[in-house]
Amino acid sequence: MQYKLVVLIASTALAALFAGGAMLSLQQHDDRLKLQLETQAARMQSIYEVSMDELEHEARALAYNMAADPEIARILGDANHLLRAGGESNEARAVELRAALTAKLDLQWQDMHRMFDLRQLQFLLTPDLRSFLRLHAPERYGDSLMELRPMMRSIQNDRIPRSGFEIGRAFAGIRGGAPVIRPYAHRHEALADAPQAGQTGEHVGTLEVGIGLDGLHKRLSEKLGIGVAVLLNPERVTQAMWSHYQPATRAPERSNCCFLLSASRPEAEAWLAAGLIERGKTEAESRLQTWDRKQYQVIRFPLFDFVGKQNPARPPAGSILIWRNAETELAAHTKARSITLRNAFAGYALVQLIVLLLLNLSRREWKRQLDLQTAAISRLSQQNALLLNTAGEGIYGVDPNGVTSFINPAALTMLGYTAAQVIGENQHRLFHHHYADGSPYPDEACPVFQTLLDGKRRSCEDWFIRADGTAFPVAVTVAPIDDGNQRDGAVVVFRDISELKEQREALEQLATTDPLTGASNRRQFLERLDNELSRLKRKGGTASILMADLDHFKNVNDTHGHAAGDAVLKHFVDIVRQTLRKTDVIGRLGGEEFAILLPGDGIEGARELAERLCEAVKNSPSRFERTLIPISVSIGVASLNTRDGSAEASLQRADKALYDAKHAGRDQVRIHTPGQAGAGLTAPEGAP
Ligand code: GH3
Ligand code: MG
Ligand code: MG
Repeated sequence: MQYKLVVLIASTALAALFAGGAMLSLQQHDDRLKLQLETQAARMQSIYEVSMDELEHEARALAYNMAADPEIARILGDANHLLRAGGESNEARAVELRAALTAKLDLQWQDMHRMFDLRQLQFLLTPDLRSFLRLHAPERYGDSLMELRPMMRSIQNDRIPRSGFEIGRAFAGIRGGAPVIRPYAHRHEALADAPQAGQTGEHVGTLEVGIGLDGLHKRLSEKLGIGVAVLLNPERVTQAMWSHYQPATRAPERSNCCFLLSASRPEAEAWLAAGLIERGKTEAESRLQTWDRKQYQVIRFPLFDFVGKQNPARPPAGSILIWRNAETELAAHTKARSITLRNAFAGYALVQLIVLLLLNLSRREWKRQLDLQTAAISRLSQQNALLLNTAGEGIYGVDPNGVTSFINPAALTMLGYTAAQVIGENQHRLFHHHYADGSPYPDEACPVFQTLLDGKRRSCEDWFIRADGTAFPVAVTVAPIDDGNQRDGAVVVFRDISELKEQREALEQLATTDPLTGASNRRQFLERLDNELSRLKRKGGTASILMADLDHFKNVNDTHGHAAGDAVLKHFVDIVRQTLRKTDVIGRLGGEEFAILLPGDGIEGARELAERLCEAVKNSPSRFERTLIPISVSIGVASLNTRDGSAEASLQRADKALYDAKHAGRDQVRIHTPGQAGAGLTAPEGAP
């Protein structure tokens, strides 16, 4: 693998690792911020709900305290009786009572309106919740609120003080109510009223107070540094409220989202105008809102009115919107993120640097090792080249197809080619295509191809053909080049064995022939004779043997000298050679005694040949240093008998016939007739 690629892969892996780590860390920061914001949202909602509860409690307590005033109970009781009785005078008296009640509470009402944000103070008469006096609107009275005030209806029924959020025709806020009980003055009153057990007075009316939310919002806003707003669902808000009601802090405006009942800060109104607040949101939510280059956490959760709290199926009346400055958390979050990113990048850069350094170091080490190995290989290949170039043997290599891939100078010298003529060529086609005798050398018989095929090492003697077309004998060793399971080719080592072959042939000649005459020596002749005998036994046929001995040869030596004797011996063999056929074999068995094997000849043919030989010897005297030396020969003839155990037996028979020829006077032929051992001898014509 390339170094650059290694660096690229390592760097990419590192970058991915650090990027992954950084992403994980950033995700953790995000999760932490989310948790912080969620905790804040839950905290804000709890604070608001507890404060709301407190305000409701306050409204209940206020209504209860005022309703417990005996003076109020008396006035309301009287008014109740008068109005129930009817009549103009009673009506007039009721007007007086209303005025008295107004006068009694007017100052208190003003103070409470100012100090505690009391918006409504109303007295309703039993049993139909007819308004007797509205201190916040003294001119309006006499209407029944039976249908409009579910909370007051409940108090009317069970005399238990209650409070909760309510949206009325002209007011929305916390309402509290308590029954006004006038103690019974006389027993008969109690009887007439038919009270329930434990009741100590007459239920003459219900006192209702309404407290606005602005005060609460202002306090929360100041204490917690947050913005608080109440958003009402538009369908729950009466037309009268849309047009007339003016909350103390901000004027409500129609919007396509909600009715802004109260807001402690101006952002809510601006967001409404900008359409940033969703309509009809019923679930609690917390989100981030950038406004006026500030970042806020905006928390919103549903607001249930008094009826909604009794009946969970009823949709919420609206929602509470709380927004707080989230810049501290967000700045911390952004800072933490950038620190993480910076650390990750710095870490990455550092580790990358170290990795690059290590890679560079190991690259140097690899290079050093590589240089060492390259040097070793180069040394080895120099040695190999030296070996190849200086080797006396011819060495060449072939690929799996027998195409020469390298060749050494010795081989080229022997073959008479140049390297360019050999490399890339098929060695068999180039210098191994024919046998020495000129017959084609098939591919499959080529030892190189055989080794390429079977992967076996082999050594043999063969013939190569030089560039000039002459063939020379070689001793060849072919070894496969195997690389694991694959055959890569073969190496051929050869040497010219011309001289060796000649020496070997000379030695063989020496071992098998008579040096004086060139005839086979005794051992060689007997071997040939044995072979012929075996052939006859296997295949049948005939063959004969002549046994010849020069007559009175001793005299030649004695008369002319030993050298003349030698010349006579050579002369005799020449004559025999001229007379014989190619297949016939002459052997010198000793001294001046010769044997001749005639394969294929029957006894008659042999005799004829023997007689011709006798004649020829007699008619061509030997010449030695200008001296003619007449010679003659005696010959015994015998046929080769397949019943003979060995060649010697056949020879003995011919020898016997020779003996007879000598005895009969020499210079003649005698035959040993088969089956008449020793006796059946026929003498040639004219023999004595
Ligand atoms: P015969 O007719 O009975 O065969 O008589 P011969 O003289 O030929 O036979 P003999 O066995 O008495 O003599 C053989 C002689 O051949 C004796 C020996 O000196 C001679 N001789 C043997 N080998 C050689 C040789 O290699 N060279 C020479 N010049 N003479 C040889
Ligand atoms: Mg002899
Ligand atoms: Mg002799």
